[in-house]
Amino acid sequence: MKDVKDYIRTIPDFPQPGIQFRDITTVIQDADGLQLAIDSMCDKVSDLEYDVIAGAESRGFVFGAPMAYKAHKPFVLIRKKGKLPGKTISQSYDLEYGSTEIEMHVDSFEKGARVLIVDDLIATGGTTEAMIKLVEKLGGIVAGVCVLIELPDLKGREKIAGYRLDSIVSFEGE
Ligand code: AMP
Repeated sequence: MKDVKDYIRTIPDFPQPGIQFRDITTVIQDADGLQLAIDSMCDKVSDLEYDVIAGAESRGFVFGAPMAYKAHKPFVLIRKKGKLPGKTISQSYDLEYGSTEIEMHVDSFEKGARVLIVDDLIATGGTTEAMIKLVEKLGGIVAGVCVLIELPDLKGREKIAGYRLDSIVSFEGE
């Protein structure tokens, strides 16, 4: 039987030289790959108590929404600035060059809700850290972070030390 890792395509030098891009399109365009990825992520957090899943645009939606559907939990959106129509709060964070901002609706969940953050991949952890700050600004408790892919060489896990992080596939020294 194929492993989730077998479905991930690596594209060297994208979007810039030296980056090994871990492409999840080849996971989700295969019915077995998609099911295996979602089921594996759900199994990883089966012991976790949470009230709601939050996922970031756009690959966080791809994994977060089916997980929420499967667990019969609500799913809330974290989007780039200016995309959400209601009242929002925002969090800025640094990118390699410059900075960016992500937002959530202020009524995404009740204060004190336990939130599971889902994304496709954790690299440096900068995006995940910003999502954690956003959820906490809104009064949520981060129950954990679940990603399909972890790149341990970039030390994202250390950046969010103290928070539970579950990943399915790891690319280390590759
Ligand atoms: P980071 O903030 O460094 O943890 O990067 C987070 C986001 O950047 C992930 O959600 C990915 O969508 C994207 N990303 C970063 N590095 C890679 C990579 N090597 N392959 C594919 N996506 C990546």
